[in-house]
Amino acid sequence: MQEPLFLDSVLKEKIWGGTKLNTVFGYDLPSEKIGEYWAISAHPHGVSTIKNGKYQTQKLDELWATHRELFGNASGEVFPLLTKILDAEDYLSVQVHPDDAYALKHEGELGKSECWYIIDAGFNAEIIYGHHAKTREELAKMIHDARWDDLLTHVPVKKGEFYYVPSGTIHAIGKGILILETQQSSDTTYRVYDFDRKDDKGNLRELHIKQSIDVTNVPGVTPKLEITKEKVDLSTIITFVKTPFFNVYEWQVKGELSLQKGAPYTLVSVIEGEGSLIITESSYALKKGDHFILPTDVEAWKFKGELNLIASEPGAKNS
Ligand code: ZN
Repeated sequence: MQEPLFLDSVLKEKIWGGTKLNTVFGYDLPSEKIGEYWAISAHPHGVSTIKNGKYQTQKLDELWATHRELFGNASGEVFPLLTKILDAEDYLSVQVHPDDAYALKHEGELGKSECWYIIDAGFNAEIIYGHHAKTREELAKMIHDARWDDLLTHVPVKKGEFYYVPSGTIHAIGKGILILETQQSSDTTYRVYDFDRKDDKGNLRELHIKQSIDVTNVPGVTPKLEITKEKVDLSTIITFVKTPFFNVYEWQVKGELSLQKGAPYTLVSVIEGEGSLIITESSYALKKGDHFILPTDVEAWKFKGELNLIASEPGAKNS
């Protein structure tokens, strides 16, 4: 039964969120401050539901527990990946995530390496990506003295760019940025600084200064990516990153693009355009905002139309 698993997922209200998940992707929003769509998730804080085929109405975490053959009989207690779309109407907190060892010890879940594909960015948009402290003592002192301008590295960003944010990297997504995030399935965030913002009840959000100083990589290194592009007729396959946690690609489809499985399973998000997915004799309509998983028995497939897709696979550590 070679079938894709299309998903319905959970929206999250955030102090920094907006309405682009409706205006750009067409999701029905319960408020005007929606920051995140957990598009492909088996994390307990927001689990996706299968919306088609044999497993319709089942939750992705149940499917991982009971039908591991769909995922190449991969080991591991939890589905390791999480795909989100984030609408940053305002800056997210300046934050850092732990690696697996620290997170398992202190939080009982996976660490969080993440990466970002910039779907759209307003004029002058920027991210915080890395820091300038040379030693852990200097990092602690700069944080305690609130010397944010001296500490944090600001990087201008544009639509179509890609950033890898390994655990231990201080970062923040900036105002006016729409992002597709591929990450480890984790919800552990240590907030370093939140711009002294208050929520609608007048409360500051919690900071995690000790943990942040513990887990930040010092000195800060930002990864150099070797992004490759392959032309296939009119279409383009871009490989952004291959890490122990995930491999991430962009498939720019113009006309037709035939692909074959490169991993036990593949997560796919349609971020632009319209077209179809063809598996053996079956055709599935695709539009912007659709998300699906190609399970293990789907060994080859074809896209037709004008589509821009972001795909991810489990990396070497998760296969
Ligand atoms: Zn983060």
